Amino acid sequence: MKRVAIVGMGFAGLQAARGLAGRGLELVLLDRNNYHLFTALLYQVATASVEPESIVYPIREITRRWPDTRFRMTNVLSIDLDRRDLHTPQGAIGYDYLVLAPGSVTNFLSMPSVTEHAFPLKDLSDASSLRNHVLRAFEDAAQEPDASRREGLLTFVVVGGGPTGVEYAGALAELVRWELRKDHPRLSDEEVRIILLEALDRLLVAFPERLSEYALQRLKGMGIDVLLNSRVVRASKDRVHLEDGSAIGTRTLVWTAGIRAEPLAASLPGASGPGGTILVEPDLTLPGHSEVYVVGDAAYVEQDGRRLPQMAPVAIQEGQYCARAILARERGEDIGPFQYRDRGMMAVVGRGKAVATILGISFGGFVAWLIWIALHLVLLIGFRNRLVVLINWASDYLLFDRKLRIITSVPPPPTSGGLSADRSRQGS
Ligand SMILES: Cc1cc2nc3c(=O)[nH]c(=O)nc-3n(C[C@H](O)[C@H](O)[C@H](O)COP(=O)(O)OP(=O)(O)OC[C@H]3O[C@@H](n4cnc5c(N)ncnc54)[C@H](O)[C@@H]3O)c2cc1C
Repeated sequence: MKRVAIVGMGFAGLQAARGLAGRGLELVLLDRNNYHLFTALLYQVATASVEPESIVYPIREITRRWPDTRFRMTNVLSIDLDRRDLHTPQGAIGYDYLVLAPGSVTNFLSMPSVTEHAFPLKDLSDASSLRNHVLRAFEDAAQEPDASRREGLLTFVVVGGGPTGVEYAGALAELVRWELRKDHPRLSDEEVRIILLEALDRLLVAFPERLSEYALQRLKGMGIDVLLNSRVVRASKDRVHLEDGSAIGTRTLVWTAGIRAEPLAASLPGASGPGGTILVEPDLTLPGHSEVYVVGDAAYVEQDGRRLPQMAPVAIQEGQYCARAILARERGEDIGPFQYRDRGMMAVVGRGKAVATILGISFGGFVAWLIWIALHLVLLIGFRNRLVVLINWASDYLLFDRKLRIITSVPPPPTSGGLSADRSRQGS
């Protein structure tokens, strides 16, 4: 039995595995996490709208009934293409076919100060850390007598006017408006600022201009300061510096301005595209290694002269294609090059509104939002997850109630010296 190793159980890897399971091949599935993550709702975890557990699904649960399939939770460190081996901390794993779907990581655009001080929003722990940090900033501000320090705590800067930045900024404005305001009545509304920075001259560049303008007006209407043509060049613990020489005082810098291929993919030999992506053949194989498929965010694929976006539908179709291609090769057939079928894209812009281009039709508003809701409920894996998310959404949208405003990680307590000093003051 030939062995197919699949690295990464995100959107692309999972689809490849689904297409290959039970088809006479041995499957070895590898991921550093033991769950599949539904990234589209990460911003809702970060804004206390849904629980982290409801946007993930255990890989072992998905795969446990698949024949000849093993899952290994491990970090793939490197690939020996000549020997057809994957190297992991637990040893080497051989393969006949390799599907490489390790996705991408945050790209801080070679700015070490931003890497050090910004909050990324790429995985589950990022979203939970960001939620904790924002809630904590309000708690600290409520006890901060100094107005300028309070201003830094209550200024939230989001960098990147793509779907993630727009969705996060909108959801943060709602969290502040409907919940944190009530939780902290002593803080004045004027003190809270949410700023969205975009280096280009419009938001949501992948959407038609009309929808970019719609999103801009929506966010402004929600009280968000949107600064276009504003490029970040540096950051410190309490400040972000822009290219034009200005600076904004903030303790919260959220970075959604770019991604690059996961370093494992970027370490492969051969030509690379923007952000370390791998230039693949039209059939998604690695040049010179027809047994290796590179799919999802890690691959650079062009179609009709345009680069395919690093989005879930592209990753899903690429994963499905490479499963079909491998099965066809085993039958001695060739299914031809990969063809992406673009069914559209969507982004939420605050409560009850979204922008969408679906099958070539572009529109924004409540109907787009309803379609977004329905689509994301269908795409979430697991009945329980759908139910929990639906209950949270209903409570959030109908009752303006987000009960998930909990801080799950707190800074370490003061040293024993500090504690005894406090105690002695209390006792005196
Ligand atoms: C906040 C956010 C919101 C998004 N919203 C949307 C959206 O609304 N719509 C949309 O279409 N797209 C969205 N995207 C983009 C979408 O998530 C990606 O395009 C998609 O996940 C790419 O799929 P993939 O399979 O290539 O990678 P991923 O889904 O990222 O999966 C990669 C997997 O590989 C594993 N892995 C990586 N390296 C290793 C290693 N060395 N060893 C072992 N395992 C490894 C990871 O743990 C992960 O499970 C969003 C992305 C983010 C970050």
